[in-house]
Amino acid sequence: MTLPFGLLHDQFQWIRDDDLWREWDEQCLLLTANRRMGRSALSRHSGFMESQQREVWQTPRILPWGTWLQQLVEDGVLSGSCPAAEVPRLVLSDFQERLLWEQQIENLESEGFLLSTTLAASAAMDAWRLMHQWNVPLEKYLSATTNRLGLDCGHIPELQAFLRWATIFESTLKENRWIDQARLPHLVERMIRKVALPQPSRLFLMGFDELSPVQIRLLEAVMARGCTVIQVIAQDHCALGGHVAMADSESEYWSAAHWALARLQVNPAARIAIVIPQLEQVRHQVESVFDAVFYPQWDFSPESRLRTAYNITAGRTLASVPMVDIALLLLDRLHRNVELTQAEISGILLSPFLPGYGEEFNHRVLLDLQLRQRQQVSLPLATVIRLAASRHCPRLVKFLRELGAGMQELRSRKARPGQWSERLSQLLTRAGWPGDRRLNSDEYQALEAWNTMLYTFSHCDPIVAELPLGDALKLISTMAHQTIHQPHSYGEAPVQVMGMLEAGGAHFDAMWIMGLHDEAWPAEPRPNPLIPGAVQRLHQLPRSSPRREWEYASALTHRFLESADEVIFSYPASEGDRHLRPSPLITGRRELSLRELRLEEATATSPLGQLLATASLQTLEDTHAHGLPADTLLRGGASVLKDQALCPFRGIGLHILGATAPCGALAGVNPMVRGILLHSALEDIWNKLESSRGLQKMEARKRRQFIEDSLGRAIQRLQHELNITIAPALAQMEVQMQAQWIDDWLEYEKTRPPFTVASLERYHHISLGGLQLKLKVDRIDQLENGQHVLIDYKTGQASARDWEGERPADPQLPLYAVTLQDTSIGAVAYALINREACHFRGLAMEEGMLPELGALPDQQSWQTMLQNWKAALENLAGEITSGYGAISPRDDTSCRYCPLPLLCRIDGNEGDEER
Ligand code: SF4
Repeated sequence: MTLPFGLLHDQFQWIRDDDLWREWDEQCLLLTANRRMGRSALSRHSGFMESQQREVWQTPRILPWGTWLQQLVEDGVLSGSCPAAEVPRLVLSDFQERLLWEQQIENLESEGFLLSTTLAASAAMDAWRLMHQWNVPLEKYLSATTNRLGLDCGHIPELQAFLRWATIFESTLKENRWIDQARLPHLVERMIRKVALPQPSRLFLMGFDELSPVQIRLLEAVMARGCTVIQVIAQDHCALGGHVAMADSESEYWSAAHWALARLQVNPAARIAIVIPQLEQVRHQVESVFDAVFYPQWDFSPESRLRTAYNITAGRTLASVPMVDIALLLLDRLHRNVELTQAEISGILLSPFLPGYGEEFNHRVLLDLQLRQRQQVSLPLATVIRLAASRHCPRLVKFLRELGAGMQELRSRKARPGQWSERLSQLLTRAGWPGDRRLNSDEYQALEAWNTMLYTFSHCDPIVAELPLGDALKLISTMAHQTIHQPHSYGEAPVQVMGMLEAGGAHFDAMWIMGLHDEAWPAEPRPNPLIPGAVQRLHQLPRSSPRREWEYASALTHRFLESADEVIFSYPASEGDRHLRPSPLITGRRELSLRELRLEEATATSPLGQLLATASLQTLEDTHAHGLPADTLLRGGASVLKDQALCPFRGIGLHILGATAPCGALAGVNPMVRGILLHSALEDIWNKLESSRGLQKMEARKRRQFIEDSLGRAIQRLQHELNITIAPALAQMEVQMQAQWIDDWLEYEKTRPPFTVASLERYHHISLGGLQLKLKVDRIDQLENGQHVLIDYKTGQASARDWEGERPADPQLPLYAVTLQDTSIGAVAYALINREACHFRGLAMEEGMLPELGALPDQQSWQTMLQNWKAALENLAGEITSGYGAISPRDDTSCRYCPLPLLCRIDGNEGDEER
C-alpha cells in the first residue's frame, strides 16, 4: 500500500481509521487538520461506543492543530516551565497579523509605489508563513556567495521589498514580545525540547495531506519525549466506481445530488461524501440543487432549514450572513450619511433582524412596493423614515432614529478598537438589533460569531492606535469579510458536501469527486509573487511548480480512492464554449455511462416519485378564472387586449386577478418616464401649433427653444404627477436628447400634406364584446379631404405587421380604428420618433395621406381589414369576459417583458409536460 503523499516518514506509525477507536485510551490525543474533521471523528467515536453497548464514556480529546499549539503555549506559561524571555505577550490572530503587515507596508511604502496595500500584505503574510514553515533562508539567496547553489536573487525588487517589510515586521514582534502563527510551532518545539511539557502517550494525526518540515520537526520533538505519533489513514480499498463525463458543472451538481439520495434510500445508514472544488464560490448553486433534490417540499421558512440530510462544510463570510449584513449596512450608511439605494431600502424594510418585523411586516412590504414604483434609484434615510412613519411602521422608525442619533454622537470621536467594539455593540443592541423574533439555531450561532468577532477586534488595541469611527467601521467590515462562519449542524449529516482539502482522513461508503477536467486537475501552480520562483522550486514550496501540483494532485486522487468503497470521479465536458477533457489523473479508472449510475432511482423512490409511480393520475385542465359580468369597465386601456393577445394567462393574471411584480429602479430616466415625457411635450407643442400651417410658419431658429421649453414644462408636470424627482443634470440631458428627436420629427412632419390636429391625448370610452375600456388616443389629425389619421407615438420599433392575425401583437391602433365610430378614419400609423430616424409606419385607405405609407387596393379592402380587426378584438374581449387564461404565449417573444413568469412557472412547466 502507498501511504499518502507527505506522510512517508518512517518514524511515524500508521493505523486504519476503522481501528482508531479500538486502540484508543484516555492518554491519547487526536489532532485533526480542521474543526469539521474533529466533529466528524467525535461523531464516529460515539457510534463506536454505542456499537460496544456502552452507555457512558469519556469524550475523547480531539483538537485541531492550531488549538493544540495554543494550548501548549498556555500550559507552558501557566506551569512556569516556559522560559520568561520566551513567554509571548500576545499570539497574533490571523486578522491582527494581517493588520500589522498592512500598517507596516503602508508606512514603508508611503510614496505610493504599491497599487494595493491589502494585496501586498496578503502576499507578504503568505511569503512569511512559507518561509518559516518550510525553513527557507531567504537572506542567503540575496547573493550567489551565500548559498551553495550560487543563486543570486539580490537584484529582484519583489524580494528586496519583502525582506525590507519582513525586517520591520520581525523587529515589531520582538519589541512587543508578540508571536505570529508561523513561528508558533518553532516556539512550541523549543519549549518541548527544553522543558517537560505533559504529552499524550499516543498522538494520532487525521486529515493532514502534507506536513511541512516545521511540523515534522515539532512532531519529532514530541516523539523524543516518549510520545508515539500515529497517522490515521483511510481503508486500503480497491474502490468500485470509475469516471464519468457530465454536460457541465450544473449537471454534475444535479447528478451527484440524485446519486447521493439514491444511495441513501438504499442504505439510510450510509455515509456519503460529495467533493466539490472551490466549494465556497459555488456554495449557493450547490445549496439550491441539494435543497431541491433532498427537500422537494421545503416550505421556505427559516425553521425548515433545520434538517440534517446533507451538510455543506464550506462556510460563508460573516459579512454575507443576513443578520450581520444589515448591521454593517446601517452602521456604514449612517456614518457616511449617504443616500440608500433602492436595493438597500428593500433590505432594511424586509429584514427580519430589525425590531417590529412581525407586527409591521405587511406595512413594510407595501412601503417597499410603493418605493419601487416611484422608480427612484436612491433616497436619503430621512425620507425613508418619513415614509415609514406615514405607513404605520413606528417600530422601524424608532429603531432607525435611535441608531442614527447614536451614530451622530459617535461620529466625531476617536477611540481604540476595544472601545469601538463595545460602543457599537451597545448601540446596536439598545436600538433593537437583531430584532425581537426568537432566533433559530443558525441565527443564534451567527450572533455568537458576530460577538466573537467584535471581541477579537477589541484585541487589536496593542496594534492599532486610537482611530476615528469611519476607520473602525472599515476594519470591522474587513474582518467580517475575512471571517468564515459555518454553523454547526445537529448531529453528523449522512451526506457531507465538502471541499477538496476537507475529505482527508475520513472513510465513507461512497464518494463523488467532481470538476476533475484536464485544466483544473492538477491545478495551475500559483507561486508566491514575493519569493523568487527558483527558490520556491528548490525548496518544493506548495503551489510552486507544475511538478509539485502534479504530485500533490496525484496523492490526493490516490487518497480519494482509499476513502470509500465506491468512488465516482466526474468532469464537465464543457464550460461556456470550451470543450473539456478528463484529467489524466482519472482516465486510468473505468469510464462509466450515466445509466450505470442509476440516477433515476432517486426520483422513483422520493415521496413525489413514489406517488407518481403508484398513483393513477388524472389530468385536469384548469384554464379559466372567474368571468366578468357584462359591460364591466376594466382598467388598463388597450393593454388589456394586448396582454390577452400575447398570452391569455398574462391578460387574465394582470387585469382580472390583479397580479403584479415588484419593479426595480433603473439608473437614469427609465423607458416609461421617457415615453410619458415625449407624449406630454408633443401634446404641449401641437396644442400651440394646431396645424401644419402653424408648423410651417414657425422659424427654424425659434423652434428648438420652443421644443426645449415644452420639454422643461413636461418634466415639471411629470415630477409633480408621479411624485418622483429627476436630478437637474439628468433632466437637462434628457431635454437635450429629446429636443433633438422632436426637432427632427417636426422637420419630417413638414413634408406631410396639409392637416389640422383634431384631438390630443383625449380619453374615449368604448364598448367591445361585453367589455368596457377607457382608451387614450395620442393624436388624431384631420386632412383637407375630411378623412382622419390615427397616430400613436413610439420611441422604439413597431410595424403594421403587429396588427395582423387573430391575436394581434399590438392591437392598440386597430382597437381605436374599429371603436371610434363617429370618426371617418382613413389612415392608421405609428409615429416612430427616436435617435435613429423619423418615420410613419402603418396603413392608409388612399395613396399620399401620410409620407411613406402604402395604400390598400380599394375602399372595400379597407373595410374588410376593419371587419377582421373587429372580429379578432371581439374574440379577445370575449376571452377576457369568460375568464379564459391558458398559459399559451403567442410566440417566442411574448414572455420577454412579461412580469408573470414566477406566477405561471412557464420555465418549470415546459420540462414537466410529460409528468
Ligand atoms: S411569462 Fe409567458 S407564459 Fe407566462 S404569463 Fe407571461 S407570457 Fe404567459
